[in-house]
Amino acid sequence: MLRDRRGTVVNAPNLGWRDVAFGELLAAALGPRRPAHVFNDVNAIAWGERVAGAARGVDDALAVFVGTGIGAGVIARGQLIDGSSHCAGEIGHVKVAWGDGAAPCGCGQRGCVEAYVGGAHVAAHITRTLAAPRAPRSLALALAGGDPAAVTPSHVDQAAQDGDAWALEYWGTLAPLLAIALGNAVAMLNPRRLVLGGGLLSRTPLLREQAVMALMLAAPTACTEALEIVDAELGDDAGLLGAADLARRSE
Ligand SMILES: [Zn+2]
Repeated sequence: MLRDRRGTVVNAPNLGWRDVAFGELLAAALGPRRPAHVFNDVNAIAWGERVAGAARGVDDALAVFVGTGIGAGVIARGQLIDGSSHCAGEIGHVKVAWGDGAAPCGCGQRGCVEAYVGGAHVAAHITRTLAAPRAPRSLALALAGGDPAAVTPSHVDQAAQDGDAWALEYWGTLAPLLAIALGNAVAMLNPRRLVLGGGLLSRTPLLREQAVMALMLAAPTACTEALEIVDAELGDDAGLLGAADLARRSE
């Protein structure tokens, strides 16, 4: 999360950063002849998809990326929405659970969708569950060569596709949580196109399919009638492209 246009990073939980004057550090490293601009990474990725990827030609789009964390970029009437304190699109920290029993999140709160469906939490849950003394017997473990620490979300997705009970049950808890966050965002923003991407979701086709099905049930029909749900197209290039174009527009 950014605090200001000078690029002060308030909190980047997955990097362990708090109040880092990243913009100033970058400007000092580049020197006075090269102006520096700092953007939220997912906003830059979303804008890259708008400029040359899966959201091109669409004025109202929501791009959600589920990787280590979960973030989104909101494009309304052709503009990237930044918000009053640069927090627009922080979909990973919308709440899907409440109270002391809700899972703790890297942002310091509890019950955020990222604390359940973010890749870091999914990987930790898989290892913790499959390494426990009375662990469920899962095909995912066999697919990873028997080492609980080597089981990836991709193995779990594959196991679920093959009918593995534990994998299906786990995906069955995650998909509705992701769908709640996506459905609420779709109801709020009414995008024409929902772009889905990120390291976790791009490797777990069944989880993606289940979440999309639940999303269509969770969001009001009037908000989904014209909605197109597509995959991100540009991979790692999206952030570079988006940041470059945003910087150009900021000059
Ligand atoms: Zn959070």
